[in-house]
Amino acid sequence: MMNEEIPNLTAFDQAALDQAFAAVEHQARNDAAALDNVEALEAFRLRWLGRKQGLLNEISSRWLKAAPSEAKKPVGERFKILKELVERLLDESSGTGPSDAALAAEAIDITLPGTRRLTGAEHPITRTLNEITSVFAALGYSVGVGPEVETDFYNFESMNFPPGHPARDTQDTLVISNQDRRPLRDRLLLRTHTSPVQMRTMETQPPPVRIIIPGKVHRNDAQDATHSPIFHQVEGLCVDTNITFSDLKGTLDHAMKALFGSAVKTRFFPSFFPFTEPSADVQISCIFCGGKGCRKCKDSGWIELLGCGMVDPAVFRFAAEKQPAYDPKKISGFAFGMGVERIAMMKYGISEIGQFYAGDMRFLSQFS
Ligand SMILES: [Zn+2]
Repeated sequence: MMNEEIPNLTAFDQAALDQAFAAVEHQARNDAAALDNVEALEAFRLRWLGRKQGLLNEISSRWLKAAPSEAKKPVGERFKILKELVERLLDESSGTGPSDAALAAEAIDITLPGTRRLTGAEHPITRTLNEITSVFAALGYSVGVGPEVETDFYNFESMNFPPGHPARDTQDTLVISNQDRRPLRDRLLLRTHTSPVQMRTMETQPPPVRIIIPGKVHRNDAQDATHSPIFHQVEGLCVDTNITFSDLKGTLDHAMKALFGSAVKTRFFPSFFPFTEPSADVQISCIFCGGKGCRKCKDSGWIELLGCGMVDPAVFRFAAEKQPAYDPKKISGFAFGMGVERIAMMKYGISEIGQFYAGDMRFLSQFS
């Protein structure tokens, strides 16, 4: 039917176009003159403006698209005027605007289900990192960050690792290649702990310092259920006058209770770290059996969780090279460090460290 109503144009000169457009304009005015109810109005709208089979659409494809390139502009101008006329006729006939039926046809069905978007969630490592950080933030600690590619000086020397220390061995440390010509202290490596940020902080900030250092660290470890070449640490450093070991014990006891519940107990055992003296390992009472003994704690009732100690005076002497206020005779401090994966595995009952990095949605969505 429409094919007959809109003939193909055989000529595209001014006169032919004027005549063709005048004919359809005349038709539109005639159609509009007969509109006297809502249904007729909707029929008019569909007949002229229908998306697929409307007359304007037909004119567009038969006349506009078929026009030779030099006639595109005059056809386009006339088409625009025609379209405006049809829309105006529709508006005038319906009084205030589109008909109820037209509105109903265009209305959005609010009962249709929308497009669902999955809400993102914190990765369990990020969540655990943030939990630990917020416990110390509440104690007045600020957060420190530093580079993951470090110099030997910050990672080892300034942390009081003597030159022959086994931790410097490439068996344990991932080093950047082709640096043999550089002095040892300038050679680059992937930091093996977040401790370098302790020194970087002290070099730029005189005491008192209370800082918590979350971050990614790297070791040349083979992957197994509990080891990964990349993992996360949180370290803490507190320096002021008259800081004692009891401050360290009180701080960590509070932190462990805040993280694992107020029933958790802590105990300290002598240990060794190059950058602290004295050093201690901290155990917490088993959070699975409450200290009675179970498989998780190997029937001991205790779980070893972090290392700590009083800052070694040698470390302060390195800091004093840039900040003289770090005089080990006048100030003291403590430091501690813990593995984030280990804590997250305990908190969430995860047995394979690799699951943190596999990107498996079945695993990750459990934390959303
Ligand atoms: Zn237990």
